[in-house]
Amino acid sequence: MIPFLDLHKINQRYESDFKSKFNSFLDSGYYVLGTNVAAFEKEYAAYCGTKYCIGVGNGLDALRLVIEGYKILGNLKNGDEVLVASNTYIATILAIKQANLNPVLVESESDTFNFNLKELKAAITHKTKAIMPVHLYGQLSPMNEISEIAKKNNLLIIEDAAQAHGAINKEGVLAGNLGDAAGFSLYPTKNLGALGDAGAITTNNENLASVIRKLRNYGSSSKYVNEYVGFNSRLDEVQAAFLRGKLSFLNEENKRRRKIAERYLFEISNSKIKLPSYKGSKNHVFHQFVIQVANRDKFIKYLTKNGIGSLIHYPIPPHKQEALSEFSNLHFPITEKIHEEVVSIPMSPVLLEQEVTKIILVLNSY
Ligand SMILES: *Cc1c(COP(=O)(O)O)cnc(C)c1O
Repeated sequence: MIPFLDLHKINQRYESDFKSKFNSFLDSGYYVLGTNVAAFEKEYAAYCGTKYCIGVGNGLDALRLVIEGYKILGNLKNGDEVLVASNTYIATILAIKQANLNPVLVESESDTFNFNLKELKAAITHKTKAIMPVHLYGQLSPMNEISEIAKKNNLLIIEDAAQAHGAINKEGVLAGNLGDAAGFSLYPTKNLGALGDAGAITTNNENLASVIRKLRNYGSSSKYVNEYVGFNSRLDEVQAAFLRGKLSFLNEENKRRRKIAERYLFEISNSKIKLPSYKGSKNHVFHQFVIQVANRDKFIKYLTKNGIGSLIHYPIPPHKQEALSEFSNLHFPITEKIHEEVVSIPMSPVLLEQEVTKIILVLNSY
């Protein structure tokens, strides 16, 4: 059996580093917002090429705290509209809602799974104040075009970079540095994953960084002095220690993911299977390798029978979720088709060549 994702195997390679990091952590007796969080923030900002990074509790909070920060700075207010892809993971939309802004769903492209730019432009109203592109499955959204649209309409760009750690555009700029601010999840399954919940925000905006740094810790500027109605969403000290070790291998792991993707794209040949669009650059870090098939249930049964794990990202589009019933009368034909047909096949830096070979063989025999 080739599992969809073997997290144990992924982290096993770092075990001795984790153990020594944990021992130092235990010896320090310092558990929250210590030297490892500060060091990780510095290292991750340097990695992304941004001036600032703020470690937070998870990816959802990262996105929400960016919006809350902009509200305090006066750039956003309750009721403002935020454009977001209709096929994103629900967290992007929840972050907007929790901050009391209005998510406006925009249809996506079936090739890249990212924003349809025509629809994006058409969705702008006088209430629109921000665009929240998600680099879904690890592939950058068309950020040059999105930046142009944002500039013309005076909109903020808040990247949901939760699936795109290390993705680089043609000009050499990384995810997290392609808009005004970005939210990252460092959840265990992500390309840069902790051993528990974790998240991060990157930005070049000093005022925003300073406000968010307070917001994540009860809105306090110094101990027991509270400036804002804040949150408790701090990156855990021990997770920061683990993440620092993994960060040095992120580029290598993304490279391995791209190598596997190239084999899939080159060697999978079956008219029943639609492969994802990829032009061979570093703008994709293949958080997921997502194919499309009609009659998906039958296909998944076939994969299971042949010992190949798979998962669906995601089976129900946000506007069809019970939690988001206010959108239930909307129709996004491309998004709905994507959700009916997508299947994610194994993709991870610890997949062996012979496993990739087997997956390709099984797919070609379907
Ligand atoms: C994982 C993910 C999130 C949320 O991250 P958590 O750490 O689980 O809160 C947000 N957006 C996208 C696109 C994600 O994949």
